[in-house]
Order: sequence, then structure tokens, then C-alpha cells
Amino acid sequence: MATDTLATPATLSDSQAKVFKNFIDGEWVESSSGETFENRNPADTRDLVGIFQKSNRDDVNAAVDAAKRAFAKWRLVPAPRRAEIVFRAAEILIERKEQYAREMTREMGKVLAETRGDVQEAIDAGYYNAGEGRRLFGPTVPSEMPNKFAMAVRQPIGICGMITPWNFPMAISSWKLLPAVVCGNTCVIKPAQDTPLSTFNLVRALYDAGLPKGVINVVAGFGSMVGTPLAEHPDVRAVSLTGSSEVGRIIGGIAAKSFKHCSLELGGKNPMIVLDDANLDLAIEGGLWGAFGTTGQRCTATSRMIVQKGVYREFVDRLVERAKKLKVGNGLDETVQMGPAINEKQLQTDLSYVEIGKNEGAKLVCGGNRLDQGEYARGWFMEPTVFIDVDPKMRIAQEEIFGPVVSIIPCDDLENAIEIANGIEYGLSSALYTKDVNKAFSAIRDLYAGITYINAPTIGAEVHLPFGGTKATGNGHREGGIGAIDFYTEWKSVYVDFSDKLQKAQIDRED
Ligand code: NAD
Repeated sequence: MATDTLATPATLSDSQAKVFKNFIDGEWVESSSGETFENRNPADTRDLVGIFQKSNRDDVNAAVDAAKRAFAKWRLVPAPRRAEIVFRAAEILIERKEQYAREMTREMGKVLAETRGDVQEAIDAGYYNAGEGRRLFGPTVPSEMPNKFAMAVRQPIGICGMITPWNFPMAISSWKLLPAVVCGNTCVIKPAQDTPLSTFNLVRALYDAGLPKGVINVVAGFGSMVGTPLAEHPDVRAVSLTGSSEVGRIIGGIAAKSFKHCSLELGGKNPMIVLDDANLDLAIEGGLWGAFGTTGQRCTATSRMIVQKGVYREFVDRLVERAKKLKVGNGLDETVQMGPAINEKQLQTDLSYVEIGKNEGAKLVCGGNRLDQGEYARGWFMEPTVFIDVDPKMRIAQEEIFGPVVSIIPCDDLENAIEIANGIEYGLSSALYTKDVNKAFSAIRDLYAGITYINAPTIGAEVHLPFGGTKATGNGHREGGIGAIDFYTEWKSVYVDFSDKLQKAQIDRED
């Protein structure tokens, strides 16, 4: 088996299994454990995408040391210069888009159109954050005292630890790394164990664009062996996790103990409301995309459809008819519309929720079965699945499944729909289909979620608006847009007194 080096990017796309080392201080290094793990294609487990390091605390320590050394210099590089490297990386990603998209489909299964979109999101994040390098605005305000100047400047935090999920392996890595480095931080990232390659590909583009060694370090491996030591490391000042609410509780607890900045982007159970006056063609099209795109494995997936009684029956019949026709298969086939589950464990979870739904009394009207014959025999496939007449309190309507399983819930009116929509522990995305502008604006005000779409499904975020959610979806931070710049910088207020005398704020007043 070949081993990878930064100097030979072309070898990455070979179909032969490669050993990918960790990337620390600009060098490819083996884990000190000497152990590795396999990354296999969930559509065809015979396809070995790569072999990655099963890293441990020692590797994390080495990566943090490298980031610490790099920070001393990187923080002094002017932000517009740092941003130019990010801009060049975006240009490189354009050239490699097809290659990286194909590698992503192989490592995590979503269809090519979507993995191209994932790489495109990293490109968009590159351009956006490159622009921010020439802004990084801070307030300059009048002082309350004469001959005194008052302003606030953004400063980097230091070393940032990032832990990412597998469902948007390049996009989510880019949401974290790109604003962090533009702001002058250095980083250690632990990609999800199911999708390390796409993070390596992103970081490769950044180094090929001229990023100095040690500014970003990649340590592959598993959550408790790499993610936990990274969050615990005393030199790591900011931790950013995207993942499940369960892991968010662990990371949030660790970060709180040493007062680290901590951004948690967690689960969702996203409602799409369809009112009687909706354009049903549009709602059905959007619902299918929202529920079954990425095999339902999006934090923003449309996992609940709350449909007003006047159109309920027609909506259900037409949606189910369409869902039954979705083409499931290997995402490398351009005609396939839905790929596999990410791994066997996720597939078993999806199937277990089918049983839970049936036992709870919901009506299964589409799918529900594993696909394991013929072309499906080597992958983790299941049918697009629809439950109807779901009670909002059922587990299938409350818990994040993270698979192609949608619950359709009848509702009386907008008020009732919003009550159902808000009646869950999460608050990530939400959607409303209506032609009534008054209802649309009422819903925008009343849906307690981080994102609301009108006449579009719950998926489709753009990189320059805040991304994140309320309640168990996070801890109040947002990725994307200026929120990320806020997270990756600390404010320093600066007062310059040119009066040549001691002036006491709040005390030296004449009244
Ligand atoms: P996960 O929580 O299992 O894993 C996320 C990351 O945390 C992985 O890198 C994993 O290795 C690591 N991890 C796991 N246990 C850990 C531990 N004890 N200590 C430190 N790190 C640990 O999530 P996943 O299965 O990779 O992704 C799916 C979840 O991510 C879903 O809940 C989904 O909603 C959520 N998600 C949220 C967003 C968002 O922006 N809100 C985006 C995508 C995915």
C-alpha cells in the first residue's frame, strides 16, 4: 500500500487503498499508537477508500504543540494576507471539485450532485472568509472624556480544537477552519472517523495555497481517543463541535471546566408546515428533497411534515407516490437520487425506528425495509420511509433518527402547526409553505428555531448567514457569516489618553 505525502496530491484519487498519516506541523506522521482504521464506501464495502491513523492523546499533544509554535508567527501575519491564502485555496478547490466530490461520495455515500455541493460550500466559505480578512470590523466610539480615544479590536483566541461530523465532511470543516485561520488562530481538527479523507482534502488545498506549517493540524481517530483529549488540552482555548446533542453535552462539560470558548452545533428534528393554501407541487418537491436528500442524514433534514387537514390526504398520497419512485443506490451513479446510510450502526438505528413507529401506532405507508439484494448486497441501504397520522408526542416525531424516515402529522391551522413544530427539544431549522404573507411573517416570528424557510424545505443554508439553532441544537453560537468571526476572535477594548493628565472614568464629571 502506498503512503501519502503532501507533494503528491494526484495519488490521492487512485482506487488503491492508501495509508493516510496524520498531518502535524506540515508533515505526515504516523500515530504513536501504531494502529490504523479503515474507511470503507458505505455503498459498497468492498471499496476501501483509505486507511487512517487511530490516534491517541500523544498525537493530540504533538498537534497542539505544533499549533502553539505556529501561532506565535501566524497571529502577526496581517489578516488580509492570511485571507489571501484562503482565497487561493478556494480557487484550488474549484480545480479539484470533481475529484474531491467523487472521493467524498465514496467515503460517505451521498450522491455526486450533493458532494459537489459540499465542496462548493467550502469554496463559498473560502470566498466569504477571504473577504472578511479585509474587514474584521470593530467599533470606534467617542470617549466620555476629552482627549481620549476609544475603540475595540478583534484578536485571535489562540489554538482552536475542532471536532466534525461525517455528513458534510468538507463543508463543516471549512465553516470552522477558514474563519479561524483568517482571524489569526491555529487549529487542530479531528475529522469524523467515517469521513477523514474530505477533511484532509480541504487541508491539502490550504497548504497548496501557501498556508504555513503548523497552522492547521489534522489528527484522525475516534471520539473518546482524540476528541476528548483535544477538548481537554489546557493549551486549546476554543473548542468547536458539530455533532449529536449527546456528544455536545460531553464536550460542553469539558470546555466549561477550563473556561474555554465552546461552540456546539448539534441535532435537529426539523418541521415543514404545509398549509391549505400552499402550492402543493412545490411543497411535495421540497418535502422529498428535504426528507430524503443526503439519505435524511442532515442536521436540517425535513424529518417532520405538519400538514393542514384540508390538503392532508392529497399531500400524503402524492408525496408517497413520489417517494416510492426515488432511485436508491450508489451515489457515483448520476441517476441515483438517494444513497446508503453512513454505516451499519446508523442503518440499524433507522430500522429500529421503523419498529418503534409501528409499535407506537403510526401508519407506515412507504418503505421501512432494508435493501440488501443484488446491487444493494454490499451496502447499508434502506427504502425511503414515510409514516402518516403520526401523533406529535410519538418518539418518531420527537427524536432525531438521522435517516430516510419522515413523520407526517396532521394539524388544524397555523397556530396548531407552530405548537407542534415547537414542541420538541431541538430548534435547528423549520419551513412553511403558504401563499399568505401574513401567515408567513407570523411563522417567521413564532417558530422557535435558528432557521426558517418560506416556500422551501428545511435544508439549503448559505455560508454568509448565521447557521445554528435553539434549545438542544446548540449553546447559542452560530457558524457561517459574521457569527463565526465573533466566535474565533476575542474583543480587546483599547483606550488611548492623550490629555496628559489622569482622567477617571465615571468620576471626573462636572455635574
Ligand atoms: P457524533 O456526535 O457521533 O460525532 C461527532 C464528532 O464527535 C465525531 O468526530 C466523533 O468522533 C466525535 N465524538 C464522538 N464521541 C466523542 C467524545 N466522547 N468525545 C469527543 N468527541 C467525540 O455525530 P455524527 O454521527 O458524526 O453526526 C451526526 C450528528 O451531527 C447528528 O446529531 C446531526 O444532527 C449533527 N449535526 C449537526 C449539525 C449542525 O450544524 N447543527 C450539522 C451536521 C450534523
